[in-house]
Amino acid sequence: MAERHNWQLGRDMTYPYDAPLPQKQVAYVFDINKCIECQTCTIACKTCWTSGKGEESMFWNNVETKPYGGYPTGWDLKLLERREPAQWQGEVLKTKTIFEDHGPLDLPTGHLPGTMDYSAVNLGEDDITGTVEQGGHFAGIHPMWMFYLARICNHCTHPACVAACPRQAVYKRDEDGIVLIDQQRCRGYQACVEACPYKKTFFNLVSRTSEKCIGCYPRVEQGEVALCVESCIGKIRMHGFLTTQSEPREDNPLDYIIKIRRLALPLYPQFGTSPNVYYIPPVHVPDGFLEQLFGPQVDQAKTLYRSLKDDKQLLGALLLFGATNRIIEKFKVEGNEVIGWDGKGEEVARVPFTEPTRIRDYYDKQYDVYRHNTT
Ligand code: SF4
Ligand code: SF4
Ligand code: SF4
Repeated sequence: MAERHNWQLGRDMTYPYDAPLPQKQVAYVFDINKCIECQTCTIACKTCWTSGKGEESMFWNNVETKPYGGYPTGWDLKLLERREPAQWQGEVLKTKTIFEDHGPLDLPTGHLPGTMDYSAVNLGEDDITGTVEQGGHFAGIHPMWMFYLARICNHCTHPACVAACPRQAVYKRDEDGIVLIDQQRCRGYQACVEACPYKKTFFNLVSRTSEKCIGCYPRVEQGEVALCVESCIGKIRMHGFLTTQSEPREDNPLDYIIKIRRLALPLYPQFGTSPNVYYIPPVHVPDGFLEQLFGPQVDQAKTLYRSLKDDKQLLGALLLFGATNRIIEKFKVEGNEVIGWDGKGEEVARVPFTEPTRIRDYYDKQYDVYRHNTT
């Protein structure tokens, strides 16, 4: 048992696996306001990493519709129902994490999904919170809502999968915090599948081992962002590293967005695993629902997002989403542009705050055609 500080909970917590923090921590920011659920990310990951036998129901990346959707079915509801509702005093979690709400020798509180839970990949897709009555019409503020939640393994700072594995087949890399399963050591006990509160480890019925998102580590080692990040049509994703061994850096876009400005928030921080996919909450969704998902910072994050146009530094960091396939480790706003550098100090992105526009004549003499200008 180790006492670890969990900054997402504003307190120390008990963690049943003692390991030092990695040199730096892989992290992601997803701007939910921009996701269109095209599933390009899902397909990019699937075709590259999980197109083999026994991996048919395995989606390391999935995008589900909230409030009703989820893959595997009810992954979050089934855990929430077993636990007392999260209670916060300011930014401090008063209730227990999945490592604390049972005896010291028990595994983290979890559940093992049944086979049928993997049978519908996107149940609840596009379902909204209410129904429109026949003949109903729009009158003022729309009372119904939904949003898309893109999910991958969180490469948690305190991973439940690592803590649960009796063979220590699941491990967290020291160089970047990526969490992997050693396929040689794994015996398919599924303790990690049961323990992961996000259900992001999957059991392969053919190989009889558990598998999970590998954080695209071969790409990361080359300084490239993950496939699901590079392929994102909506440019909703940023992939980089959080500083772990010193104070957060103002010029590190991930440190800046997540830790300094607190615009992006962890998913279900109350579980206690310190997940490292951070979400910019959807501004049209009621706070109550979002606070259950993202904790007590929702209101201030939404306010910040709404005032982005007057916040050049923060807006600059967001403009770098999808700007390059290189991992940006340093950024700076200069005049009307934001510039990003990779880990080697090479400039890899330069994005203007205002895109240049060119208005064409509607009649093109060279080709004798009429054209419309679109915006
Ligand atoms: S590719 Fe991007 S926009 Fe499309 S579903 Fe995935 S996260 Fe959303
Ligand atoms: S999300 Fe689940 S599988 Fe991924 S590191 Fe956290 S506990 Fe492990
Ligand atoms: S990081 Fe790589 S392995 Fe993980 S979900 Fe994204 S594409 Fe798949």
